[in-house]
Amino acid sequence: MKVYKFGGASVKNAEGVRNVEKIVRLAGAQDLMVVVSAMGKTTNALERVVEFLDAGKEEQALTQWIDIVDFHVAIMKELGLHPGSDIRLQGEIPYDPAKSLDENYDQIVSLGEIMSTQIVAVYLLKQGLSVEWWNMPKLLRTDDTWREAKVDDATSAELIRSGWNRPQRPAVVVTQGFIGGTADGRRTTLGREGSDYTAALLGNYLDAESVTIWKDVPGILNADPRLEPDTILIPSLRYKDAVELSYSGAQIIHPKTIRPLENKHIPLFVKPFGEPNAAGSCISEDGVGPIDIPVYIWRKNQILITMRAKDFAFVLEESLSEIFDIIHRHRLKVSLIQSSAVTISVCVDNTRFVPEALAELQQHFNVTYNENLSLLTIRGTTPEILERAKAGKTIMLSQTTRRTARLVVSE
Ligand code: ASP
Ligand code: MG
Repeated sequence: MKVYKFGGASVKNAEGVRNVEKIVRLAGAQDLMVVVSAMGKTTNALERVVEFLDAGKEEQALTQWIDIVDFHVAIMKELGLHPGSDIRLQGEIPYDPAKSLDENYDQIVSLGEIMSTQIVAVYLLKQGLSVEWWNMPKLLRTDDTWREAKVDDATSAELIRSGWNRPQRPAVVVTQGFIGGTADGRRTTLGREGSDYTAALLGNYLDAESVTIWKDVPGILNADPRLEPDTILIPSLRYKDAVELSYSGAQIIHPKTIRPLENKHIPLFVKPFGEPNAAGSCISEDGVGPIDIPVYIWRKNQILITMRAKDFAFVLEESLSEIFDIIHRHRLKVSLIQSSAVTISVCVDNTRFVPEALAELQQHFNVTYNENLSLLTIRGTTPEILERAKAGKTIMLSQTTRRTARLVVSE
């Protein structure tokens, strides 16, 4: 069997959904698990619904919600599907003011994937394919760490294998990435951009021969084409290089994607959605490495936090464990660490958890920080490349090893 994953940009309109059909047919429309993200920018729009509700702005929430529903209805109509009879849409926003913000977030934001997969599944069915729609909240079992749920692999693998291996199963299964559910039936999400991770888990549970991520780029490039004029396609790479690239902030695959595949030696293809026969990139055990061209990776929206001991008695080891305990408890994502005799600096993603963590750090240390930063990682750097990259930029901090340079840049 194979797993195909289609991102939001690949299914942002009716034409995208028709293209999914084309790609599924090219694969023989057999033994295929199709994982689909929310359409276009739907996840962002649903996040705004949650924000409005949380701020008590019900009218704005409703307007935003209606826009989202209308967007899907328009795509359905263009595909010849009938809202109401072919697909029953969620009527009300599933918001419960008695529940926490994060729990409500998961109930609402997960609907993007529910809607997109229903549309894709019903459309493929109407085109005469043998298709079944699966509801991941009932199959991918997680705990209730809202917005970043942890997957229970043993239970999920069992549920998914028994669904897949049962006799008379339709040839193609269409299901959601990014979402799962608790034992008591509440929907959860796995963290933004988590659909790749779902595709990798399904590949692992079902011993897929490969997993393919269909994207709106030619494959894995050495730089973001929106930021660098001349990009080069990397046709083959090793799991460990892919992990490093995604950890540095390469938007190409979610960092959690590789491990479930590496464990079972399953190759991961990244292919252009608009050109299904192109080779794209392949990440595998025997991929070619190390990558021998410079690779530029930007990680945006960073904050650099520097801690200095209050009493000058800075015992590095003790302070480190205290700092990382706080960082871990507040779910900060660390992108770079640097220490000196009297300070420790960490660069982290500037998420909504940062203020609370800062408050706690300030109880123990003298803390300074800078926001609106980006982290630029250059792999395969040379002194000349580094000079060129630094030109015209305000560098807050830099770290270089033999082949890799990391620059914290003010935006
Ligand atoms: N739709 C979700 C997001 O945009 C998950 C994904 O696309 O991977 O974050
Ligand atoms: Mg998405």
